[in-house]
Amino acid sequence: MKRLIFDSHAHYDDEAFAPDREELLQSLPEKGVCTVVSMGADYEGCKGALDLASRYSYIYAAVGIHPENVAELPSDYLSQLEEWAKQPKVVAIGEIGLDYHYKDMAPREVQKKVFEDQILLAKRLNLPIVVHDRDAHGDTMEILRRHRPKGVVHCFSGSVEMMREVVSLGMYIGLGGVVTFQNARVAVEVAKEVPLTSLLTETDAPYLAPVPFRGKRCDSSMIRYVAQRIGEIRGQSADEILLAARHNAETLFDIIAEE
Ligand SMILES: [Zn+2]
Repeated sequence: MKRLIFDSHAHYDDEAFAPDREELLQSLPEKGVCTVVSMGADYEGCKGALDLASRYSYIYAAVGIHPENVAELPSDYLSQLEEWAKQPKVVAIGEIGLDYHYKDMAPREVQKKVFEDQILLAKRLNLPIVVHDRDAHGDTMEILRRHRPKGVVHCFSGSVEMMREVVSLGMYIGLGGVVTFQNARVAVEVAKEVPLTSLLTETDAPYLAPVPFRGKRCDSSMIRYVAQRIGEIRGQSADEILLAARHNAETLFDIIAEE
């Protein structure tokens, strides 16, 4: 099988994969997966992503602190991230961003400060960022406009208008399982209008499995269904979508995918 599937966003350190992680990761290349970028979301997650990247040639790592985990950071977290980020298979700072969905998250000012500090680190190291934006479109855009980092807004949930602005800043749009959901009206519009040169495919595994696996544990091979749906919406083949997304991801993360 041709390996066209580039999963630009997954969490293979997640405990959902504990029972069969190695078996699953060994099987993904033969299911068409060429590359996975496994995200760090806290210290343990970063270490987990680095470990996987060191053991699997097709897995790369991103290191960063997710907004969910910013409340009790050690004061030297940026130098720890920097040390990790200099390892050869680290291709991005992520996942970082803003999450205003739950009331008990860290205060917005704290989230914004940690987000911006990590953007500045990424810019200094010339790495792209992987952005998490949940119910925080206004502040996310304000920060991206001001700093103009390279990167991707993952699991993009904004409007077509916001998508156009993200693209005009030179950033990419990450689309995953949500486009296959029955009630996905805005995501479908975005999938239709996004320039093919700005699209990345992703899972957010173990979350957000596409239809017909919705609600089950997600893995990178399921991106085939995401590409199928995006192709259907745009009048293109799944392979065309996968190929374009792979090319875009190679450009953004500055790597060459395995064939
Ligand atoms: Zn994620």
